[in-house]
Amino acid sequence: MEFEHSEKVQALQARVEAFMVEHIYPNEEELFAQVNEGNRWQPVPLLETLKAKARTAGLWNLFLPESGYGAGLTNLEYAPLCEIMGRSPWAPEAFNCSAPDTGNMEVLVRYGTPEQRQRWLEPLLAGEIRSAFAMTEPEVASSDATNIETRIRRDADQYIINGCKWWTSGALDPRCEIARPQGDLLGYLGTTGLVRGRHQLRRGGDKAARLLGEPKRMHRRGHAL
Ligand SMILES: Cc1cc2nc3c(=O)[nH]c(=O)nc-3n(C[C@H](O)[C@H](O)[C@H](O)COP(=O)(O)OP(=O)(O)OC[C@H]3O[C@@H](n4cnc5c(N)ncnc54)[C@H](O)[C@@H]3O)c2cc1C
Repeated sequence: MEFEHSEKVQALQARVEAFMVEHIYPNEEELFAQVNEGNRWQPVPLLETLKAKARTAGLWNLFLPESGYGAGLTNLEYAPLCEIMGRSPWAPEAFNCSAPDTGNMEVLVRYGTPEQRQRWLEPLLAGEIRSAFAMTEPEVASSDATNIETRIRRDADQYIINGCKWWTSGALDPRCEIARPQGDLLGYLGTTGLVRGRHQLRRGGDKAARLLGEPKRMHRRGHAL
């Protein structure tokens, strides 16, 4: 079978690749160094600089299909760019294409009210805040979503979310304002929303644990989109 990417995609591949060579790969060591000094949950200054450069270069929010907010690529067109970005753990965030922000932004684009879009979608699209996806639970085998014990109940114009989540990437980032506990429901982190938990170091080094938040018991009040 013959398969070739379109000229548009080939041009984007070349630009993403060039950005990786010029800005991402030479800075990887320094990025790790900045994470390892001080509070690992704080934004990494060098990464913020790289985000600004990627945005200026027009390599920003490449993930959003047909919405008017992003590059308007299909999955087939976006996949080869992910292949390039995936070569460095830092690259997806530098291009504002990192999970779970990408999926959460798509939910806001599709189902958010104008007010919700203004409050969360716009700062997420600008790379100013972060978001989380909280599926995994401590008491059940969480790779099967039918096991999930968290319950959502409607209460007038609110949804009450009761449950306990852990291994939630990004939850301890101070910029993390919104979390998706289940389906297309988003809960606010902070004063009106979900309780932020604490980080626990796991045995065997914590290269991965750097990404993890471990929320303690969270009896949540979430608001539905
Ligand atoms: C770096 C990192 C970041 C993470 N970030 C997030 C996050 O942001 N949000 C989040 O919600 N979670 C996150 N997780 C958690 C991860 O998604 C879960 O570990 C995953 O969903 C598996 O769930 P579990 O740990 O309960 O394992 P289990 O569901 O207990 O599965 C353990 C193993 O048993 C197998 N297994 C399970 N049930 C069966 C069965 N019935 N038959 C045969 N085999 C079975 C599974 O395939 C797997 O290999 C993160 C994990 C890591 C390491």
